[in-house]
Amino acid sequence: MTVTTRQQQAARLQAMGIQVWVSREVTEDTSDLETPAETARENVVAPPVLPSAEPEPPPVVSEARVENTGAGNTQVDTAWVDEEPPLPTDDFMPGLDISEMSSQPAPAIDISSLDWPELQVAVSSCTACELHKTRTQTVFGVGDHAAEWMIIGEAPGADEDQQGEPFVGRAGQLLNNMLKALGLQREQVFIANILKCRPPENRNPQPEEIVHCEAFLQRQVALVKPKVILAVGGVAAHNLLKVDTAVSKLRGQLHHYGETPLVVTYHPAYLLRKPSEKRKSWADLKFAAAVVRGEQS
Ligand code: SF4
Repeated sequence: MTVTTRQQQAARLQAMGIQVWVSREVTEDTSDLETPAETARENVVAPPVLPSAEPEPPPVVSEARVENTGAGNTQVDTAWVDEEPPLPTDDFMPGLDISEMSSQPAPAIDISSLDWPELQVAVSSCTACELHKTRTQTVFGVGDHAAEWMIIGEAPGADEDQQGEPFVGRAGQLLNNMLKALGLQREQVFIANILKCRPPENRNPQPEEIVHCEAFLQRQVALVKPKVILAVGGVAAHNLLKVDTAVSKLRGQLHHYGETPLVVTYHPAYLLRKPSEKRKSWADLKFAAAVVRGEQS
């Protein structure tokens, strides 16, 4: 991207009231940048802001992201489906009270006309909700900007917050293996989350945070134009579909996010906790693949 184009984008964002901080390197030619996460990191110059040491009430910990801290799962293909299940648990991905969301304020800025570079800058400089105070960096999303598959999860965990990329750690490795089983590389899909900033202590996203962040994801979907959205986990499914139905009842059906077909499945972190559900998730992936091929409508 040329200096002039980036300056024009910065001027557009500043005209929209968005404060744009651009590092000295960004004024140089960065046209060889491949991923949104890389570009976003280039654009962020604010130093990491660590969580406050002040005592806070015990957080509600997200089941979806608490697993993203261990060693990698190196199995490939459908071997991820056949692992022995551990002790069963009745724990499930906690959902949100969707009924509270309709009264929340709209996103602070209109980003519906932004292209990828402007959108990345808007996300990296966003202070629309309190999460900007505790994030290390924003987690924009990664992958093919013209992908057929869009994978949407919940929110960054500790590893994602540090690395600036969604779905890393053990859950990310399992997601990679699930994609490989479909004949897809991670780079061939676009991966994003409902929230772009990490909730402290892996607590659940709050409704007001989701409402403020929603426009970014909507714009990403509009730009990618995927053939299918795979909503992984309850938080993603509930907020994309505006329902609070259990994932077990949402999966196996074709939903829509706007005009885009959407399939619900379990979050990889949940599958790490309950491998006996992997076969159901594999069925969901095959169902989504049929949607991509135009065999389901
Ligand atoms: Fe902005 Fe979303 Fe981060 Fe909140 S979570 S500060 S709305 S980018």
